[in-house]
Amino acid sequence: MLANKVASGMSKGFHSRNDLMNKILLALAITFSSALQAAPIQEEVFVLGPQPELLKELVGHADITVDHLDSHGFEVYGPKGLSKWLDQRGVSYYDLKDARKDIDWTNYPSYEQIKAKLEEFASKYPQIVRLVSIGKTVRGRELWVLKISDNVAVDEIEPEFKYISSMHGDEITGRELTIRLVDEMLKKYGTDSQSTDLINNTEIFVMPSMNPDGSELRQRANANGQDLNRNFPEAVRNDPNNAAGRQPETQAIMAWQASRNISLSANFHGGAVVANYPWDAKYERHPFDGLLQTISLEYANLNPEMRSSSEFSRGITNGADWYVLYGGMQDWSYIWHNDLQITVELSDSKWPNYADIPRFYTSNRDSMIRYMELAHQGAGIKLANRQATGRVEVLNAQGASLGSYGFQRGEFYKILPPGSYTFKVESAGERRNVSVKVEESRVSPDGNYIAL
Ligand SMILES: [Zn+2]
Repeated sequence: MLANKVASGMSKGFHSRNDLMNKILLALAITFSSALQAAPIQEEVFVLGPQPELLKELVGHADITVDHLDSHGFEVYGPKGLSKWLDQRGVSYYDLKDARKDIDWTNYPSYEQIKAKLEEFASKYPQIVRLVSIGKTVRGRELWVLKISDNVAVDEIEPEFKYISSMHGDEITGRELTIRLVDEMLKKYGTDSQSTDLINNTEIFVMPSMNPDGSELRQRANANGQDLNRNFPEAVRNDPNNAAGRQPETQAIMAWQASRNISLSANFHGGAVVANYPWDAKYERHPFDGLLQTISLEYANLNPEMRSSSEFSRGITNGADWYVLYGGMQDWSYIWHNDLQITVELSDSKWPNYADIPRFYTSNRDSMIRYMELAHQGAGIKLANRQATGRVEVLNAQGASLGSYGFQRGEFYKILPPGSYTFKVESAGERRNVSVKVEESRVSPDGNYIAL
């Protein structure tokens, strides 16, 4: 449906431009694309200059991905015919595949080596690390997630947090940094209070590689040529939260997220240096816009390069203000799962020289730890019945509603700005008003849960 909507919107411009390639591209869109599956990415270019009209036209086209807009221009990914179409319009661009010839791929670990490293964590620290696969990629590789927590085999009631990296396979920095972060926290467990408190009081999930096929292929898309960060259900399009027909990597994330109570997360990318917060798909501000800016600043402030960015004020940006995208993971995770997610762009170079990775780790390490602690800036309820489902309406101190959220598995947790709130809890036909107080994040042993 979206493809048709966008296509009819695009067709308005055709008569004046009389552009054959427009029609070819449009034909491709009609033939192949839907909200679920775009035409495979085959051409990748960097369009030079601001080009606001072109940008407007490309954003939202089901077969086109626009990414990394900056003062020099923006990236465009699309099906065969994209560059000819741009040629016809006299647009200046360069081919990103040519630019990639300069990349030094050497010394990066392979999928098998990453797997071995994750297995080593799990076997070395069996009390606090568990390695699970949440599904398989197009090529049959496992999608590994580390759970890190005390009593790791038990599903405890603790705030749940996750880091996911490299859903774009060629944006590799985050894969390396998340593995280094885990390594450091595990080594320091029991001696360093910051790592120990986090592990003891949080259920931490780390997925270093959401698109291992793409990383092995040195490409953005998965092995089906699909951009995974355009493949999630999109509220703006009225998509149902339905995994059927989506990419296997997307399906795996959707099923996993539905099985957890994750309330804070970040998703690591590369190609810029900025912390990007929802919404991506609409200009309207998020109901927790102030909180999102605060948590993004917590990340950016501890990263000297991000904080002093010349492209982004204070190193943060609203997603749609940067550029609009549909089907992204961060909007989806909050809309359907009450999981506040930001997108962190870690390095201007998507695939830096391996020798530079320690430097990127140094500049992101404090931010990564601090951001995890924010998982404790909230409040929750826990019910004796671990199977209980229900809803919680969150009211601020003045009694105004801040939204209503479903919960399951007897547990609800919400990240909130410091202050006093009322949770109107409805479960099994019973209603209760619970007063909660949220303080500046500090990792607390009880996770700020109230037992009902
Ligand atoms: Zn990306």
